[in-house]
Amino acid sequence: MTAITLPSAQVATRPSLAGLSRTALATRLAEFGIPPKQIKMRVQQLWRWLYIEGATSFAPMTDISMELRGKLDAAFTLARPEIVVEQVSNDGTRKWLLRLAATGARDGKGPEVECVYIPESDRGTLCISSQVGCTLTCSFCHTGTQKLVRNLTAQEIVGQILVARDRIGDWPGATKPNDGGLIPVGDRAITNVVLMGMGEPLYNFDSVREAMEVLADGEGLTLSKRRITLSTSGVVPEIPRWGAEAGTMLAISLHAVRDELRDVLVPINKKYPLEQLLQACRDYPGLSNARRITFEYVMLKGVNDSLAEARELVRLLAKIPAKINLIPFNPWPGAIYECSDWGQIEKFAEVVNRAGYASPVRTPRGRDIMAACGQLKSASERVRASAGRLEGIY
Ligand code: SAH
Ligand code: SF4
Repeated sequence: MTAITLPSAQVATRPSLAGLSRTALATRLAEFGIPPKQIKMRVQQLWRWLYIEGATSFAPMTDISMELRGKLDAAFTLARPEIVVEQVSNDGTRKWLLRLAATGARDGKGPEVECVYIPESDRGTLCISSQVGCTLTCSFCHTGTQKLVRNLTAQEIVGQILVARDRIGDWPGATKPNDGGLIPVGDRAITNVVLMGMGEPLYNFDSVREAMEVLADGEGLTLSKRRITLSTSGVVPEIPRWGAEAGTMLAISLHAVRDELRDVLVPINKKYPLEQLLQACRDYPGLSNARRITFEYVMLKGVNDSLAEARELVRLLAKIPAKINLIPFNPWPGAIYECSDWGQIEKFAEVVNRAGYASPVRTPRGRDIMAACGQLKSASERVRASAGRLEGIY
């Protein structure tokens, strides 16, 4: 594992345009004084530079006059969220701790969120955050111990993919860093995006939807909605709305097959119990064998990992086009759970496999950089508090 602490970026006094949606860009340009008749064309120009070329300054924008570029540069930046720490795992997983803009924080420092890149032979997945902290309190989740600080703006959500593409050289003409071939070399290093970082995305619905529109835009970042997955703990009333308005793929943090246990692991279950959740899944638009809902199931030793529960899981999901992801529990300091034994995970997986679900166990990635939800943030806070070095904690 290598950790790189990057030089602190200059405090941006000018607002950034990077990460904005078409509508937001148009509003900024209108406020800036671009004549109404030119707005559409200017948005189109900026859009290409921002989301196809990955421009980080106005200088290369040769289809905009020097004069206007100068004026834009005096009023705006194309800054991304600031990287506080970047870690590269032995298996090529990369994790960034990002600092967002301060909004009224007393120390003038913005809150921090995480973003993780996981390269595999056939895809590259970026896991992004939607909130700083979470209002929910799932008992096995480290983010659940952190209060909600604030929602991310759509710009900050898009900003995560821009930062990641900058750092892995995923823009036309950029050089990919030498990671020993771990980053798949193809047209795109980032082929998939999952909303599985910090926060409950359906509690930040509007900003997440706006951000996904930017990601899926056919003339920009062009990530197909079939390659974007929103993960939810089960905010049932928002699921049909998300299906109708955003239409990305869906993942459900199931983790238990009985209400009694799910009430403890995923307390939102007390409000929206299993039957309601599964009904919302059955009704999710556009499902087919090629478009399945992913059900996440974290393996907790002696808590939810019996074979009877494996059989019940298969029974519960029988009528839903589903994928099952068994996630080995990623322990964190102070957690009251342990990860199931590997042998038990294998037996559990066998029951699921026999029911026709392919390779259900998600291999733990980036273990050496604590790539699970909420963990880099707390680790780096601890280390900074003791004025240590990041490497010191592993
Ligand atoms: N709030 C959303 C998305 C973020 S959590 C949700 O709950 O779905 C993303 C996934 O990581 C969820 O399935 C969550 O249950 C899982 N997760 C959280 N903490 C974990 C841990 N310590 N080990 C393994 N998986 C964890
Ligand atoms: Fe929030 Fe998801 Fe963690 Fe639950 S699992 S506390 S919903 S981030």
